[in-house]
Amino acid sequence: MDKEQIALDGPAASGKSTLAKRLADRLGAFFVNTGDMYRTLTWVALHKGLDPAKDIAEITKLLHFVDIRYVRTQAGTMELWMDDRPVDLAKVRVSEVTAQVSHVAKIGNVREWMVSRQRQAAPLGLLVMEGRDIGTAVFPHARYKFYVTASPEVRAKRRFAQTGEVAAGASFERVVAEIAERDRMDMEREHSPLRPAPDAIHVDTSDLDIDQVLEILAQHIEAKRPE
Ligand code: C5P
Repeated sequence: MDKEQIALDGPAASGKSTLAKRLADRLGAFFVNTGDMYRTLTWVALHKGLDPAKDIAEITKLLHFVDIRYVRTQAGTMELWMDDRPVDLAKVRVSEVTAQVSHVAKIGNVREWMVSRQRQAAPLGLLVMEGRDIGTAVFPHARYKFYVTASPEVRAKRRFAQTGEVAAGASFERVVAEIAERDRMDMEREHSPLRPAPDAIHVDTSDLDIDQVLEILAQHIEAKRPE
């Protein structure tokens, strides 16, 4: 399974990250969370006072001045860096960034820039990469592709349990609405919208715990493994 990719796509808060990380640990693979790359760029834009819904030219210009990439650590894990230091993930996984990230992610130049950086991880070895367009755009020829979903209620509950990402005092209904709006934007954008690759295996995690989902994925991977 050397230099193969396992693509994990799906809507917001479907449990992809936890799953991708656990799967990578189990298989001894590198784990790459592409959402954190879009979040980091969004954080930079907000920090510079830009409005991601409007300032498209300015955000595109930023791509010449920031360097956001995954770096392999000595421990053999992948770490997200911006310029000369690791990204503080707690800073980019906050509600202010979550609310704006889909505006940044729909800019065509931004997507091209991100995809070329994401592909650079391929020569490292077996990769578990999660996002929205991994099986459709980043690695369309990946042998293993999964589309992970869960019902809106289950996803909102999971998101609610994650501190930081939900705005202080936000109601359950508001979190449901925010997730739905982000998915709508991600699914309706012009460039590589969120959708399952035709050859992706769909896994609905609503009624399953993480170990059960992990088992399902592991079985599919084993079945598709070349002799
Ligand atoms: O995975 P996460 O929820 O952190 O992703 C944040 C946002 O980044 C998504 O809502 C989407 O707008 C964008 N994204 C994307 N393509 C990816 C990963 C994330 O457009 N491969």
